Amino acid sequence: MPPGYHGCYLRIDVSTGRADRVPLPEPLLRRYIGGSGLGTRLLLDEGGAAVDPLSPEAPLIFAFSPLVGTPLTTSAKFAVVSRSPLTDRINDSLAGSGFALAGKRCGCDAFVIVGRADALSVLVIDDGDVRLHSAEELLGASCPKTEDELRGSLGADYRIASIGPAGERLVRYATISHDRRHAGRGGSGASLGSKNIKAIAVRGTQRCEWAHRDELIELSRELSQRSFGPATAKYRELGTAANLLTLNRFGALPTRNFQSGTFDQAAGLSPAELGVQHPRVRASCTACTIGCEHLYELDNHRVRVEYESLFALGALCGVGDGDAVLRASQRCDEVGIDTISAGGTIAFAMECVDRGLLDQEWLTFGRGDAVLKAIDLIGRREGIGDLLAEGSRRAAMAIGQGSITFAPQVKGLEIPGYEPRALQTMALGFAVGSRGADHNRSGAYEVDFSDKVDRRHATVDSVRHAIDTEDRAALMDSLILCKFLRGVFADFYAEAAEMLRHVAGWDVSAGELHETARRIVAAKREVNVLAGWTPDEDTLPERFFSAPLPNDNAAALTRERLQQLVAEYHRQRGWPTD
Ligand code: SF4
Repeated sequence: MPPGYHGCYLRIDVSTGRADRVPLPEPLLRRYIGGSGLGTRLLLDEGGAAVDPLSPEAPLIFAFSPLVGTPLTTSAKFAVVSRSPLTDRINDSLAGSGFALAGKRCGCDAFVIVGRADALSVLVIDDGDVRLHSAEELLGASCPKTEDELRGSLGADYRIASIGPAGERLVRYATISHDRRHAGRGGSGASLGSKNIKAIAVRGTQRCEWAHRDELIELSRELSQRSFGPATAKYRELGTAANLLTLNRFGALPTRNFQSGTFDQAAGLSPAELGVQHPRVRASCTACTIGCEHLYELDNHRVRVEYESLFALGALCGVGDGDAVLRASQRCDEVGIDTISAGGTIAFAMECVDRGLLDQEWLTFGRGDAVLKAIDLIGRREGIGDLLAEGSRRAAMAIGQGSITFAPQVKGLEIPGYEPRALQTMALGFAVGSRGADHNRSGAYEVDFSDKVDRRHATVDSVRHAIDTEDRAALMDSLILCKFLRGVFADFYAEAAEMLRHVAGWDVSAGELHETARRIVAAKREVNVLAGWTPDEDTLPERFFSAPLPNDNAAALTRERLQQLVAEYHRQRGWPTD
């Protein structure tokens, strides 16, 4: 087994309580690294691509990486990989917390969970020993309450990943939460809920050796120093919330369910304005020197707010009241749902009400109280909440009357806060993304904001840039390092190779890692093909082709142009399009 790894995964069948250690050969580890890459490989090998995501047979994978537990900044992360209950395609959610450190110390490189417990249970993994506890007394508890109660009853040295009421009720975009962070997108919380597992509690003592300890510590020290530089200053000082006004200035802030790219009340959602009413403190994920988190005080609690939550629960729903958006974000965390999919689905429903397609007159754009009410109904799957808990695509299929043309989703995943007509390399990234519309697996908006492309007129030249960002993200998600480090690297692939040399002892090159990144992207596609992917999924909703952005006539995208870009993407990837 190479240093940095335990050389096995723990396969747990929660139907029986049986746990097996399954060896992971070194060539497989070198080819897929860890995190998203390893999780995707295991999903394929466990046959998870072709089974119903909410069935007992569906594997739910928690994958660590060789860098977890090292002093490399931002490396305390794990990936949750499964077939998504929301999209039916691959889902890989990443998050950072002490759960990654404690989970890897259980002596394995991944947990693979299959089966379904008889009753709501807590899965306890204690240094690799596995047992199930009843979780009946936690039924309906929020994620923070579940964590607090379990650390009280099991011991403070446990780290907890849990679902809220939404995960129990199989809301298709339920999250898995831990240390107030979330594996957020794609419904991994519903996957865990379908296994009747309320929470996973882990602690362990088994640490990995590193191949070149002194060199690794020196590299980590130097990377930490660089992480304090200008490339991360925006995130440290203002957090991702600062993006809101920037995107509004560019006319690229999705507003009122993508009916506009500017929001006249955006100023109310800026970090400066939020900070007037709600004192702000900075925080960070475990083992991170950047510290991009900005927590706002609200009713004696602290609420973490990212740009994506502000956009989705604010501008997208036409809500400019910062206090209401903070409350909505807090409520999503308690209930345990993804803020982007929640905001996207609620905004879609608001437009349906506007158009007379849905009889819920209270659910209108601009009403913060309606957003809160909708979140509560979704969490309980009550009334209209039962339909909205299915996500915007399934809701549109049920409502009919052409509403699918403005359901804000790709492959069923709600679109993040980047207007595709104004940011067309990102539009391509959304269309071809293996888990649907996703700014973290593509990152092409960075290209749109550079001088490499005309952001409002993508050409074939945009394709290689979209591929580059996707490849780089695949490697970062497999190592696993925070995306906010990306501007710190002068040569990411070469520096990643150096990290792996010092940790695993492999004589790995930048070129090999680029191949690895492409292999991981291809493996995700393989999952999708086995899950039933068809070429017509690589597109955007009709809304984006039918008219230019109202605030910017130059921001227009035709179906034909996007189809050309998608075809060129497949050609450059070397993939058939049928
Ligand atoms: S930069 Fe932010 S998201 Fe990334 S690891 Fe640090 S605190 Fe977490």
